[in-house]
Amino acid sequence: MATAPITQILLQNHPVDVLRLELAHPDVQGNKYFKLKYNLNYVQEQGFRSILTFGGLFSNHIHAVAQACSELGIKSIAVLRGEDDPESPTLKFIRSKGMETLFISREMYRLRNMPAFIAELSEQFGKVYVLPEGGTNELAVQGCMEILTGIEDAYDHIFCAVGTGGTLAGIISTPGLTAKVTGVAALKGGQDTISPVIKKLLQGNTEQVQWSLVFDQHFGGYGKYHPALHAYLDTFEQEHGIKPDPMYTGKMFYKVQDMISNGMFASNEKILCIHTGGLQGWNGWHYRYSNKYQSSEETP
Ligand SMILES: *Cc1c(COP(=O)(O)O)cnc(C)c1O
Repeated sequence: MATAPITQILLQNHPVDVLRLELAHPDVQGNKYFKLKYNLNYVQEQGFRSILTFGGLFSNHIHAVAQACSELGIKSIAVLRGEDDPESPTLKFIRSKGMETLFISREMYRLRNMPAFIAELSEQFGKVYVLPEGGTNELAVQGCMEILTGIEDAYDHIFCAVGTGGTLAGIISTPGLTAKVTGVAALKGGQDTISPVIKKLLQGNTEQVQWSLVFDQHFGGYGKYHPALHAYLDTFEQEHGIKPDPMYTGKMFYKVQDMISNGMFASNEKILCIHTGGLQGWNGWHYRYSNKYQSSEETP
């Protein structure tokens, strides 16, 4: 048994399985459920009352933390890059879940992984459990090592969208994995930064696993509007009955389809795409691009 339903679609006549993590939970969607699982266990075991974490104004991670914490009765605090916008759908949602918000400038946000800055925030908010941006840490990787449970050896190729790289590190670390793993970067310009982060996070013996990252499918960058991507997302949903998200999974499906078109796979090779969820991102997407302003998001 896989951890979520699997739907087979045809991309350029090649059968492709989609692991539907977006269907697992309505609000703690996709990979975020797996990333949070052991972090939340730890918070409860250690008796922390609150979680503090970092993200952009439309972040899937922030949304998932707000939901999970409200279900568990844990206080949550979001340190957000940019300025408050009370009409933003993600901010409305997290506030409805009781999440506290703190807005910091882009310059300050760059300090988000500095121990001195984290210590200062911790002091301000009392005994908090600090989750890094995107929720990526060792416990997140441990959770993501369970995504492929039951299908570890069923595929030749596995594709997953990449933001911080925590999820991909978990996929690569899956015990008994036999597939080649490809991560499709959603952000522009992570060539020098993402790979070392992933290598540091790998767990167990991963020497035999073949994995790589592609950086040429970001469509202008994270959260940027791109007409070709937008058209593809619409067509994809109509053709296959699966809704991709606009930040991550759309780019992954596009890349896989492109690779199939370019003859990169033998006809008998089995391909799995992981749908990592992120559908709440559509609310922010419509909000930004159908009416108000063109913003630039650069953080997951
Ligand atoms: C957060 C997210 C990712 C990226 O996960 P990382 O572990 O940061 O690489 C991929 N897809 C979706 C839909 C996400 O919300």
